[in-house]
Amino acid sequence: MTERIRPPTSSTRVFALLGDPVAHSLSPVMQNAALESLGEDGVYVALRCREAQLNGLIRGLALAGGGGNVTLPHKERATTALDRPTEAVRRTGACNTFWLEDGDVHGDNTDVEGLRRALHRLMGGVPEGASVLLLGAGGAARAALAALLDDSVARVDLLNRTVERARAVARRLGGDRTHVLDSRLRLGERSYDLVVNATRLGLGEGDPVPLELGTEAEAGAVLDLVYGVGETPLVTRARELGIPAMDGGEMLLQQGAVAFERWWQQPAPVDAMRGVLDRIRDRVAP
Ligand code: NAP
Repeated sequence: MTERIRPPTSSTRVFALLGDPVAHSLSPVMQNAALESLGEDGVYVALRCREAQLNGLIRGLALAGGGGNVTLPHKERATTALDRPTEAVRRTGACNTFWLEDGDVHGDNTDVEGLRRALHRLMGGVPEGASVLLLGAGGAARAALAALLDDSVARVDLLNRTVERARAVARRLGGDRTHVLDSRLRLGERSYDLVVNATRLGLGEGDPVPLELGTEAEAGAVLDLVYGVGETPLVTRARELGIPAMDGGEMLLQQGAVAFERWWQQPAPVDAMRGVLDRIRDRVAP
């Protein structure tokens, strides 16, 4: 397929992904597909940057009428560049999207709403009163916990390799519905409506699964935030057991769609974004 490329002009809005590394990110191709599908005059690039350059870039891009995303390792530091953080940024302590509005630099953490939308696609949303096992205690786990607690789950069990990190997340966000498990042994074959993997396990070749489904715990559905080439081992195992499961590709898409909505104040062309992501993942799959 030949793609129409609109040459940038002096009025083109510039958006950038800021992080280190950024070379493997799918955000540029996804966001440029969205711009092209709606015919918007914008361009999205990836800029590898160090922490010392971050705040200048965020404010410069936003004040010039554009905006962007922030990825690892700068999501926490990015919060210090904002005039107006959203509630999601305040709760999670992380910002992944910034833009200019009424002269102020605004920032959101669209991973929170992105995860909620991915869960909607997986299981029509988390049922009220559900019990959830959340694996991990990094930035992705904080976003997941914020979304789950907003969705009226009854209980979230938090399990992480470093227990103290899980306790810190629970203190920051948890309230009385969040319970930290201090060891995998505490799982005791418990049954959960949903298991969310927010660890890095599954990114590396030969990684063990973060949880032995059916042995360590039962799951009604599985959302793995990890994505890469093909299915993740956790998603493969879940499907073998007949459990509805989804990897992090949908959350990647949805957090990008929410960011697009912040920048352009209109619904994102989700089908065009999904189409280009699917084509890339099919093309690179073995
Ligand atoms: P992070 O802040 O670095 O946290 C990493 C987490 O993985 C921590 O809980 C860490 O445990 C755990 N972990 C790392 N190696 C482990 C191992 N060998 N065994 C057990 N646990 C291990 O990273 P993050 O930003 O939260 O990202 C986590 C994952 O989510 C990544 O794979 C990332 O790609 C994915 N993610 C996806 C999306 C999306 O849109 N789909 C968005 C954000 C993140 P310790 O605390 O013990 O180190």
